[in-house]
Amino acid sequence: MTFENAQNLWHQTCAEQDEAPVLSSDVTVDLVVIGGGYTGCSAALHAAQMGASVCLLEAEEIGHGGSGRNVGLANAGLWLPPAEIRKHMGDGPGDRLVSLLADAPRLVFDLIARHGIACEAVQNGTLHCAHSPAGFKDLQVRHTQLQSSGAPVDLLDAEETAARTGSDAFYGGLFDPRAGTIQPLSYARGLARAAVQARAQVYQNSPALRIQHDGDVWHVETAGGTVRAKALIHATNAYHRDLASSAPEYVPVHYFQCATDPLPEALRATILPGGEGCWDTGLIMTSFRMDEAGRLVIGAMGDLGHAASDIHRAWVRRKLIELYPELREVPLGQGWHGRIAMTSDHIPKITAIGPSAYAVHGYSGRGIGPGTVFGKGMAEALITGDDMRLPIPAIDAHHERMTSARQIFFETGATLTHLFKARF
Ligand SMILES: Cc1cc2nc3c(=O)[nH]c(=O)nc-3n(C[C@H](O)[C@H](O)[C@H](O)COP(=O)(O)OP(=O)(O)OC[C@H]3O[C@@H](n4cnc5c(N)ncnc54)[C@H](O)[C@@H]3O)c2cc1C
Repeated sequence: MTFENAQNLWHQTCAEQDEAPVLSSDVTVDLVVIGGGYTGCSAALHAAQMGASVCLLEAEEIGHGGSGRNVGLANAGLWLPPAEIRKHMGDGPGDRLVSLLADAPRLVFDLIARHGIACEAVQNGTLHCAHSPAGFKDLQVRHTQLQSSGAPVDLLDAEETAARTGSDAFYGGLFDPRAGTIQPLSYARGLARAAVQARAQVYQNSPALRIQHDGDVWHVETAGGTVRAKALIHATNAYHRDLASSAPEYVPVHYFQCATDPLPEALRATILPGGEGCWDTGLIMTSFRMDEAGRLVIGAMGDLGHAASDIHRAWVRRKLIELYPELREVPLGQGWHGRIAMTSDHIPKITAIGPSAYAVHGYSGRGIGPGTVFGKGMAEALITGDDMRLPIPAIDAHHERMTSARQIFFETGATLTHLFKARF
């Protein structure tokens, strides 16, 4: 475990074992997958289930990246409401993506059930909570758009939202019964285990150091051996390392979380009694959810790794008390953060990086469902040779401008917001 993951609750409560070996010889397979997050593990699992021979290489341990650090909200769709997705992608591709991702929680929870993944899965829906009257107006727009796309979402008033969350801080909420919560790292490791059971070879602590194509076959070099394969999936996303030639372009945005100790039964009965996962409409948003042991996990945009990060830690304590005054004396233990790959239009990108090879990145903070769907779709496209199996059309390249400046802008905005906001 790396230092930055030492305080990560998900590492402390992961029920799935971390068993993959290091690659120590040359291997020849149909498909090589680089990156052991949801995208890579889903690709390896689905390709192996189709009868392909597969080798997955993970630089650190399975779930080292966003997949082992996130909030665990397994949502339908992207951050953007359906009309925005259609506006950016056009009606045909936009409709297809909206409908594929509407079904993403079903795919995730089906995989969990089918492979017996021990990841605290609760499919009791999510609540998008209005932090202001303007936030409630935004939820009304989303509600109309989602309903017209066939989504079974409910708009809740302030009273119903208070009953569901156990907090009177909100002006209303949007309930999506399709979604739910998971233990994120357990889900990643469980997918990797299922891939191995389907005969994929999964290696960790085996960074891909060089990729080349000799006109026929991909060669992926690691310190312990070379993988040769006709097809390649590059799924390193915001945790890309070592391969300078194929670094994805995105704006890095950090998000951190802290967890309470397990709450006593009396408090658990009033705080999120229905087990929904939540986030709010704030521009610098807040998320909160329970884990299986009854810890409240609360998070927001922000990097815990810089000199002023105590501002984020102090804010999260104030925010917890603002939402739940009864938790004033409850210790807030673990604190960890992760990096999100944002694209300017908040839509993920699949790039065609050579013959029978795709790279993907940029889920922009919504990667549990999308990563699972995109990994499956890319594997199916490569194994069948049918590009129509891709969830979105592949592009030749994706460029983002001024990524460092925009990263500083977001982190400064989050730090200043946390310095001045919250009532206590
Ligand atoms: C704090 C946080 C909260 C979030 N909350 C949510 C949420 O509630 N719901 C949601 O849907 N999404 C959420 N997300 C987004 C989601 O976690 C990501 O979109 C998703 O995990 C991306 O999965 P991935 O497999 O594409 O990438 P990752 O999980 O980042 O995996 C990429 C992997 O590639 C490996 N790698 C890099 N370079 C190499 C190399 N050269 N060779 C081999 N391996 C390499 C890395 O070590 C890493 O393990 C959140 C993200 C963060 C950071």
